Amino acid sequence: MTKGKVYLVGAGPGDPKLITVRGLEAIQKADVIVYDRLASPRLLKHRKPEAELIFVGKLPDKHMLKQEEINQLLVDLAFQGKVVTRLKGGDPSVFGRVGEEAELLADNEVTYEIIPGITSSIAVPAYAGIPVTHRDFTSSVAIVTGHEYPNKTYSSLDWEHLAKAIGTMVFLMGVANLEQISRELIRCGKPPQMPVALVRWGTWTEQATITGTLEDIAEKVKQANFQSPAVIIVGEVVKLREKLAWIEKKPLFGRRVLVTRARSQASELVDLIDELGGEAVEFPVIRLQPPSRPEAQLALDEALDKLQTFDWILLTSVNGVEFFFSRLLEKRIDVRRMGNARIAAVGPKTAEALAERGILADVLPARYQGEGILEAIQTELKPDQKVLLPTADLAREYLPSKLKELGLQVTEVDVYENVLALEEGEEVVSLLQNQGIHIITFTSSSTVTNLFEALRQLGVEDPLALLQGVEIACIGPKTAETVRQFGLPITYMAEEATVASLAESLSLHRK
Ligand code: SAH
Repeated sequence: MTKGKVYLVGAGPGDPKLITVRGLEAIQKADVIVYDRLASPRLLKHRKPEAELIFVGKLPDKHMLKQEEINQLLVDLAFQGKVVTRLKGGDPSVFGRVGEEAELLADNEVTYEIIPGITSSIAVPAYAGIPVTHRDFTSSVAIVTGHEYPNKTYSSLDWEHLAKAIGTMVFLMGVANLEQISRELIRCGKPPQMPVALVRWGTWTEQATITGTLEDIAEKVKQANFQSPAVIIVGEVVKLREKLAWIEKKPLFGRRVLVTRARSQASELVDLIDELGGEAVEFPVIRLQPPSRPEAQLALDEALDKLQTFDWILLTSVNGVEFFFSRLLEKRIDVRRMGNARIAAVGPKTAEALAERGILADVLPARYQGEGILEAIQTELKPDQKVLLPTADLAREYLPSKLKELGLQVTEVDVYENVLALEEGEEVVSLLQNQGIHIITFTSSSTVTNLFEALRQLGVEDPLALLQGVEIACIGPKTAETVRQFGLPITYMAEEATVASLAESLSLHRK
């Protein structure tokens, strides 16, 4: 059998965008991913669907693999012919025991690559506004373990020389020994007033920082019950934080935001949340698909067959545009058959989706609601004109009934339907149970309905109780109405019914 290959990959300090391109490729290629606690689980979503995951980190009450067992596991998996990605927090060479893993691979003649990562010792201070060197303060930096092998004593580090020679000192794995570390450094000549910072879960959503001096930091950390994993930075550079702290200033810093819209539509909102410093958690409670009812399919196809007969085609959503055009293509119907019709789009995004297909909408309303489109075209409508209205199965009644009142012949067809999706639901439920979700975004009434239904199907008896205390953000009044019907208060409201405006409301109205 051909031997597999092992990638020993630095996952970076936590923020999933802080991995190298090569590291990401190794995740994408892997048949098996062996990972531990400090490698962000958010990176795992880049894996192949069939890739196997093996967690080797510490979990309460669970057996943890010893380092020797991990080394052997990598060899065994490679002998099974697998491409193995061993994902480690930060950089694999910095207190990451990559040497031991690589050695056994080398002994067994398994091919491997070491893919460096961004080490927490430098990145985590940077995310707290502390550059580890600065011309005015220090010209050297040491990365030091704060947790010696149990069979060694602290004196195995040359504290005297370190304290004298090194400017900035960064300790990893040192929280439990903070008191001894501070004492040693003062004993060896560092001034008691030397600034110290601890940053825990740096670059993760939970990032938190505490500062003090060598003299008082241990007590402060104890008082605050500040726990590992944290890096300890000792040096004048810590003072720069007052001025340079940046990520904490982002409006959504520390907040996890649930995105409930369909995955195919979520990316814009996800990116905006990320830019605002929040962590977007995708829970696409809706999946869009072509109509499944045979009557609906038939009605759609009949309408498309006589496309040239319509005077108006009103498109009320980006999805509507997408499904409409893909059905046209499937049926090999040329878009020029719409040439006779005036085409109206409900809003700028819908118009953009049309433009991507080479069609510049004739009418674009000033208000982004179903009612707006009517205002915009009303003066041009004539009785008996034929209107095609490709919508979704849950479309609002307002527009078609109003058009009919005006004496038009309305052909309303479903071009897609919304179905309930539960993907990744269990993880979301557990986040909600642990108060790990701070904001939920709703971008349509059906996202609200489906979230409640999805939670119920996932075994949550009282979804309303589970959502207590979570802030709610709505894209528009219709969605807000549905939220209220379910009994939830609304915290954020978009000014315009667009995702950009929704994101803006999250940053403006931050309490
Ligand atoms: N190879 C890793 C370090 C592994 S040792 C790297 O290069 O970053 C584990 C220690 O790293 C932890 O005890 C903690 O001190 C530090 N650490 C790793 N990730 C961290 C994070 N996101 N925030 C704070 N400390 C972190």
